[in-house]
Amino acid sequence: AWFSAPALRRVFDLLNADGGEVRVVGGAVRNSLMGLQASDIDMATTLLPQEVMARASTAGIKAVATGIEHGTVTLIIDGKPFEVTTLRRDVETDGRHAEVAFGTDWKVDAERRDLTINALYADAAGEVIDLVGGLADIESRTVRFIGEAEKRVAEDYLRVLRFFRFFAWYGSGRPDADGLRACARARSKLSGLSAERVWAEMKKLLSAEDPGRALLWMRQAGVLTEVVPESEKWGIDAIPGLIAAERAFGWKPDPLLRLASIVPPNAERLAEMAKRLRVSKAETAFFAAWAASPTIPAAIADTAFDRMLYRNGAAGLVTRLKLAAAVTRQKTEGDLSLLAETARLKRLLARAEAWEKPVLPVSGADVLEAGVPAGPRVGELLQRLEDGWVDGNFNADRATLVARLKAMI
Ligand code: ATP
Ligand code: MG
Repeated sequence: AWFSAPALRRVFDLLNADGGEVRVVGGAVRNSLMGLQASDIDMATTLLPQEVMARASTAGIKAVATGIEHGTVTLIIDGKPFEVTTLRRDVETDGRHAEVAFGTDWKVDAERRDLTINALYADAAGEVIDLVGGLADIESRTVRFIGEAEKRVAEDYLRVLRFFRFFAWYGSGRPDADGLRACARARSKLSGLSAERVWAEMKKLLSAEDPGRALLWMRQAGVLTEVVPESEKWGIDAIPGLIAAERAFGWKPDPLLRLASIVPPNAERLAEMAKRLRVSKAETAFFAAWAASPTIPAAIADTAFDRMLYRNGAAGLVTRLKLAAAVTRQKTEGDLSLLAETARLKRLLARAEAWEKPVLPVSGADVLEAGVPAGPRVGELLQRLEDGWVDGNFNADRATLVARLKAMI
């Protein structure tokens, strides 16, 4: 459907004229051949970026020079972005960034891409152009580097992670042996990559429908340990149970939860991991909450659990409960006596997810008003009031707390 969309036709009409040529390339071609949704539409053209800009301007099409030094212009039609990139050829690479020049040769452009399944083009007639054997690999779900694996990996070590990412999403059976060997050999080079690129690839890998097999091979190749040494202690044993639980319980696949399931909740190590991978603030908070989450006693009353939620926050407990429920759920398959335990964890989970932190009905102002002079004692008294209020399951109202305060001073 995307291929015959009027917006795409306009791109073809705009750039497939007067000596120019444009084709859809990469993920959009790959996904549509696999019968999957395309996330975005990348296009390749023989025209220079300034020519793409000029033609867009004449036609009244919005064009943004999103990466002019890489030759990328984003055309926006009917609110949809089309990334149009001028054909390229590599000039020089050092394994961290490639230096590129513009070109006009489709085969050269194809051969500088990473994987055969990512190097297919489709023209305006919907004809697929395969210059690297990508069609056969799509058919057999083979994730394979274009050309000599070892050489391609050395040009850009991020391709190690891309190999496993695309294997997680589209591969079947075992990973291509040459690719796997090249990735294993290059593992020590991953630490030289930009953290942002690594984390973005890792998150995409972890977002696959079932990243279990890819993680297994990644671990086998010594690549997982390079990127996430924090996973060494637990390994990836929890992944299959978590994926099964996501499906059984209707949880939205969550790359962060999946990562949490393989990194033990150690505050220091997870803070280091977040810093090293330069994850976002919200993601850092997620891992900090996981690391700080207390273990949940075998039998806990709702009231005691509410106090735990108040004192620890819900986020870390939600993570812990989900992971615990996934583990017991999986064990249940061989031990029905665990059914009750899974049900209990799920009930607590629902309680944690619905949790709204109650607000202490008194404040420092009340303590001052009661005649306590400003100073550290105000905070101490307030703390004692709060402790009593929490211990009493948040039942005491404002009047009761003020009366308690007066009795304290
Ligand atoms: P997605 O569905 O995740 O967007 P995609 O195939 O479009 O998949 P992108 O990362 O968006 O992947 O890259 C677009 C295209 O650019 C790829 O299909 C590939 O041809 C090429 N490419 C991207 N990154 C690299 C790389 N590091 N080395 C070589 N080619 C690359
Ligand atoms: Mg893409």
